[in-house]
Parts: sequence; C-alpha cells; structure tokens
Amino acid sequence: VDTTVATSAVDAPRDAGGSIADQVAKVRAGFEAGITRPLEWRRQQLNALTRLLVENGTAIEQAVLADLGKHPVEGYMTEIGSVKTEIKHTLKNLAKWTKRRKIPFVPTVMSNGFIQREPLGTVLVIAPWNYPVHLLLMPVVGAIAAGDAVVMKPSELAPATSDLMTRLVPRYLDSRAIAIVDGGVPETTELLSLPWDHIFYTGNGAVGRIVMRAAAEHLTPVTLELGGKSPVWVDPSADIAETANWLTWGKFLNTGQTCVAPDYVLTTPEVQPKLVEALKKEIAALYGVDPERSPEYGRIINERHTTRLARLISGSKVAIGGKVDVAQRYIAPTVLQDVAFADPVMQEEIFGPILPIVPVASAEAAISHVNAGDKPLAMYLFSRDGAPVEAFLGKTSSGSVAINANLIQNGVSTLPFGGVGASGMGAYHGEESVRVFSHDRSVVNKVTWLPNFVKFSQPPFTPKKEKQ
Ligand code: NAD
Repeated sequence: VDTTVATSAVDAPRDAGGSIADQVAKVRAGFEAGITRPLEWRRQQLNALTRLLVENGTAIEQAVLADLGKHPVEGYMTEIGSVKTEIKHTLKNLAKWTKRRKIPFVPTVMSNGFIQREPLGTVLVIAPWNYPVHLLLMPVVGAIAAGDAVVMKPSELAPATSDLMTRLVPRYLDSRAIAIVDGGVPETTELLSLPWDHIFYTGNGAVGRIVMRAAAEHLTPVTLELGGKSPVWVDPSADIAETANWLTWGKFLNTGQTCVAPDYVLTTPEVQPKLVEALKKEIAALYGVDPERSPEYGRIINERHTTRLARLISGSKVAIGGKVDVAQRYIAPTVLQDVAFADPVMQEEIFGPILPIVPVASAEAAISHVNAGDKPLAMYLFSRDGAPVEAFLGKTSSGSVAINANLIQNGVSTLPFGGVGASGMGAYHGEESVRVFSHDRSVVNKVTWLPNFVKFSQPPFTPKKEKQ
C-alpha cells in the first residue's frame, strides 16, 4: 500500500467543484463528448475505484468507525471488500455484458438484427448512511460499467465518510464524467429538480416517494432500493443452535442497521424459549458478557435514532439485553419475547439491534401475517423440513429469500438484489447493475440482396394483396 498517496489524498482540500448545476452540466457535457463510451475508459475508472479503496483502506475504516462504531474488520468486509469483489467480477465480464447480441435472421422483414446495450446518459446515485461506502459505490460500479456519466450523493448522516469520499472521488476518478456532491436535503432537492437519465436511490420509502415524484417531472426512470420489515420463520424442525448463530450475526451486524437484517421472528410458542436460550449463548459468544465494552459491537448512527429505538423497547417484554445509553448511542443486543402484532415494535422497520419474537400457531398463520403487510425486502426461513419452506416460497413474495441462513444472498453477484412492492423497484449487482444503467436498443439491418417484401403490405390494397 502506497501510504504517501493515501495521506495526500485524505488530507487534500475539498474540491469546491462549482455550483451543483455547473457540476452536473460538466459531467453531462463529458457524456455527450463520448468520454464514457469506450470500454477502455470504463476499465480505467473501475481500476481507479479499486485503487481508491485499496490505497485509502485505513482512512475508510476509520471513517465508518467514527460514524457507526464499526470494527475495522467489519468495515473492511462490508464496505471495501464487497465493492472490490463487485469491481473484479464486473471487469471480468464487462466485454460479455456489453457486446452486441445477435438475433437469428428474420426472413419476414429480410433483416439481421441485434441488441445493442447502450449507456443511458447522465445518472444520479443517492446513498444512505448505513453502509455509507458500499451503498454509494456499488451502484456507481454499474453506472461506470454501463458507460454512463454519474453524479453521486453520499448521506449527510454519515459525515466522516461523506467528507472522506468527497475528497477522494475527484482525486481518483475522471471528473469530466464523474462527480460527487456532498450535502443534505437542500442539495438532494436541487439535484432532484434537474433532468437525469436515471435516478438510483437507496434509503427509506418516504424519501423514495419524493424521489419518484421528482423523477416523474422529467419522465426519468428510477431504481428504488428501500427497506421494510424482513420476517424470519423459525420452524419447529429447525436446528435452533444454528438458527440462533445466523440470527445473532444477521441482526447485530452493523448494530442492526442493515436493510436486509432479519427484522422480527415468527415461531411457535414451543420454540420461543429454546430460541431465546440459544440466542443468549450466541450473543455472549459474539460480543461477550458486556457488549458495551466489545470493540466488535457498533453504535447507532445518531441520538434521534437511538431514542426512537429505545421507545420500541419500552413496554415490551425484554428477554435479553434492553440497556440503552442515548448519549453513547448505545443499545444492547436486545431480544423481545411474546411480542404481539399490535405492539409498536411491529409497526415500523426496526433498523436497530432489537429482535422481537412473535409466537404464532403455525407456518400457515405466519404466512397470513406476512401477506397482511408490505412485501418485504428479504425473508429468512429456518427449517429442516422442506414443506414449510415451499409453502412460504409459493404463497408469499419478497425481494429475496435465504433458507437456513441470512444476509448472504446480498453477496452473490449472480443474483439480482432489490425489493418488490413497498421494499423497492428494480434490482442490481453483477450484470443486473449494467442492465439498470443501460438501454437495450433494438436494431434491424435489412439485407440488400433480398427484395423488399414489405411492399406487399403497403397500399393500395389490391384484391391480390388482400388474399395474402
Ligand atoms: P438517509 O436518511 O441517509 O437518506 C438517504 C438519502 O436520501 C440521503 O442521501 C439523504 O440526503 C436523502 N434524503 C433524505 N431526506 C430527503 C428529502 N426530504 N428529500 C430528498 N432527499 C432526501 O437514509 P435512510 O433513508 O434513513 O436509510 C435507511 C433506510 O434505507 C431503511 O429503510 C433501509 O431499509 C433502507 N435501505 C435500503 C437498502 C437497499 O439496498 N434496499 C440499503 C440500505 C438501506
């Protein structure tokens, strides 16, 4: 690692970059000049993005530690390693994903044909705070690979990370076609007022609606990566110790501030006490007896969210944890038992380290409950018996499913990642990211060695033509 580069880039003054309108006009001009189209440019930019991540690894880990109390190893895995892997996979497949795809000769129109994947133009990426590097750069990888010019907007709620990224992006990426705009609601509002060729938004559904409304003004297509309450079914046939291990990791990673985190557990009254015992063991195994002192356990993004989460715990039957320190933005890994569907914790996406267990009579009862709510982003099914798994797969809907696991579906580049209904629209990762930021253009090329048969279907419609 070249630390000279790392230090100079991190300490570099922020590039003022001009007004938002000027910055956007500049990258749009870059797109129109054709800078982004050659595959060579796309490869260079993707390699530069890898260098940004590698040469500034420590600075990035420190920034997410400051914003979220994220342990550097977790910071590396979830913010840096994941994006590097995506870039590697994209570079390997770039030529294949962007090449012309021929269709068979079509005699009726005397033509050869092909589909040409072309860049959409100038696109906007708006990111949230919970994985502030990963969720900013993953869509950007797709936009660059597709040959678009891109403006990215990190979340103001992760200020150490957004400040660092605002310094680094212009140092590594081609500012003629790639820009970063740091800011909050006023800046995002201004960005949204401009015409774009695509808007890619990750965050909550309330802002998702604002984004979609703004996009409608310019008929701009959108991808909305939203959240919601991702349910877990723990079947009586499940391996409870294994299930507890997955749930502890899935729920308390990033202190529960993960869009695909298991939100709540549905299980039978008989399984509930066994699960609580197993979760107690796992929480102690991962975070020790006092998670507040564990460097592996993070913090809530700000005091407002800490207070919101504390409210969700109060009044519930706490089985494990429950400790809150608002000033330290600390919430202990918490499990609630005997939770009812009407309880406050079941009314909104938790997005924090609280796992409610809701006892239900059967898998069928759990399915009815899931179907009564919004379509979730993810669903987790723990079962050794295949029948309940098939029942959930056949009778419910969600962005993704993991069976006897959680979160890992997010790391599979060959699987599209996205929501359905209230949990979002559109998907990305791997080839799907290139598809999102491209237009598949249909082209026919009439062969000149055949006569024009279409003439036979043109007026005047003589009796001879009518017979055809
Ligand atoms: P956030 O508050 O950082 O908002 C996201 C972005 O929206 C930010 O860049 C912010 O500047 C912008 N924004 C906020 N208010 C705005 C407004 N009024 N007008 C215009 N822009 C505005 O992040 P968040 O929404 O709190 O993120 C958490 C949510 O995101 C959760 O619901 C979570 O499930 C969801 N999420 C989804 C995914 C996914 O991939 N599907 C990933 C992470 C988070």
